[in-house]
Amino acid sequence: MLHFHIISLFPETVKAYLEESILKRALKKGLIKVSFYNPKDFAPVSHNPELKEPVDDRPFGGGPGMVLKAEPFLKSIEKALKKSKNFEIVYFSPRGEKFNTEMAKAFAQKSLGEKEENKILTFLTKGFWKNKKLTDLILVSGRYEGIDSRVQEIYPGREISVGDYVLTGGEIPAMILIDSISRQLPGVLGNFNSLEEERISAGKYYTRPEKLRWKGKVYEVPRVLLSGNHKKIEEWKREN
Ligand code: SAH
Repeated sequence: MLHFHIISLFPETVKAYLEESILKRALKKGLIKVSFYNPKDFAPVSHNPELKEPVDDRPFGGGPGMVLKAEPFLKSIEKALKKSKNFEIVYFSPRGEKFNTEMAKAFAQKSLGEKEENKILTFLTKGFWKNKKLTDLILVSGRYEGIDSRVQEIYPGREISVGDYVLTGGEIPAMILIDSISRQLPGVLGNFNSLEEERISAGKYYTRPEKLRWKGKVYEVPRVLLSGNHKKIEEWKREN
């Protein structure tokens, strides 16, 4: 079981995504777990104890955007760390290492433990079972200009980008990681063979009805897919 810890000022967006379909089922089955930490809960208290100060402030050195204060994030990370065993911290940034399927697989693989052959090697060379298993992934989502850089100095982590564009926050990147890593875990997809990496994948998909009527025209499914000839079908899939 992989435990994702989401540190975000706007957790509702991520929660909504987890409340449907495959990820909802994965949570219910206990294949993954997700916890939320809102830095707003750790905002400094102002002179009026009823009020909390904002979690952002103007940047030293000037600039247009606001910067997120270090302390509320440090306290959030600290809380997540208290619940974590073998963790990795991920910071999102458009300048980070570009995320891809290989990375998703690597995280999933690590959470499942070492491969058998590696285990034997570790056993032979060290004489004991070394536990390198990843149990907790702490995902830190920024907003505005970003988070005070001292957070990463204090709690170093991996910096990951989900693509060459700038988003308004790290929530979508967090969802991308949860989604793509989770679907690599056995039992998450209804049929593990659905992982396109494990089979010949076609770029075109059809389902019922065979004849689709739309605005006076009929759109048919490629005949070969209805032929029952598996060899021909595989060939067609490869071509597409
Ligand atoms: N001024 C920052 C961008 C801030 S965008 C810079 O130049 O790097 C605000 C937040 O959105 C970031 O802190 C990060 O958490 C998230 N974010 C934006 N684009 C992203 C991307 N391509 N990949 C991952 N995270 C991104």
